[in-house]
Amino acid sequence: MTTVQRHTKAEDDQQQPPALHGAALEFVWLELTGKCQLQCTQCYAESGPSGTHGTMSDEDWIRVIDQAVGLGVGMVQFIGGEPMLHPALGTLVEHALDQGVAVEVYSNLVHVPKHLWTILSREGVQLATSWYTDDPGEHAQIVGRPTHRQTLANIQLAQSLGIPLRAGAIRLANDQRIEHGVNQLHTLGVSQVGVDDLRGVGRGAIGAEPDLSALCGQCANGRVAILPDGSVSPCVFSRWDQMHVGNVRRQSLTDIVAGTPLTTIRQELQNHFNTSTAPVGVCDPNGACRPNTPPPGCRPQVPSCLPDRPHPVADPAEQAPARSACEPGICGPGTRHCKPVAPTCLPDKPHPVN
Ligand code: SF4
Repeated sequence: MTTVQRHTKAEDDQQQPPALHGAALEFVWLELTGKCQLQCTQCYAESGPSGTHGTMSDEDWIRVIDQAVGLGVGMVQFIGGEPMLHPALGTLVEHALDQGVAVEVYSNLVHVPKHLWTILSREGVQLATSWYTDDPGEHAQIVGRPTHRQTLANIQLAQSLGIPLRAGAIRLANDQRIEHGVNQLHTLGVSQVGVDDLRGVGRGAIGAEPDLSALCGQCANGRVAILPDGSVSPCVFSRWDQMHVGNVRRQSLTDIVAGTPLTTIRQELQNHFNTSTAPVGVCDPNGACRPNTPPPGCRPQVPSCLPDRPHPVADPAEQAPARSACEPGICGPGTRHCKPVAPTCLPDKPHPVN
């Protein structure tokens, strides 16, 4: 069982990195495609086999990476849809690495093209994936295809190649075998397994209009997401039309990040979450979800995520009594003193204190 520790807001504020304003940027999601082999019931991007790579060209993505580097980004995350389906993924990963930026590829790990394993094994790259259960049948019901075995095999292959890998276990139902799924990953040696709840965005909204309760409160704070059509939003979850703050096919990322629409939305989000009545705890916006924590470490403000409700899945990252200098919350994309592609800065490796 995860121990739910309550914090005062003041304590949590002290642990927060300073709020970022103006043109500072630390982390960018690059949503390469809306195409995916799967069709998960909860997919916030509403991805699936009929999705497309959108209107961003490879040159557009290269330009955006360069602009992100100029804004001080320490890590980019390639996501989708399924980013492994995008033909330029390898080129883009290598380009980001060559600019000195750490890379995370968030994939369903159903299929990894052979040539990509060499690139994914490069220093500065880590993988992330979603996980739901140890039961192949339950997995197939959630993702729409019987792919449990393939994903497990690729998790094991990544482990054997020494590629850092974290998993986000997503809780969709009370009777889901999520605890068993987490234990299964731990048995395979995946030490970083976070837990997230269903987000009320995309298919996860189940027909309802998305609203701020799906968010964690840290959107736009040193991070933005770029969608397959070039739209920019405060994060991958805050993606509905009203949250779009520009388009990198028509504007530079630099101008968008410094522009009025993003500043206004950041302020609105701050106002909303500063007056939120949600209890403060590991599950609230000021708790586990810090800007240093790539998704799905960010948790939504949903009732199932509140401290007064038992949180049934062990999460070693939350239970660890002492923090090492190399764990994600300290040495992550939001941490400027960590060298982005230094091997000592990867979560699984010992890290001498900077
Ligand atoms: S694997 Fe990811 S992108 Fe694909 S349908 Fe599932 S949640 Fe969406």
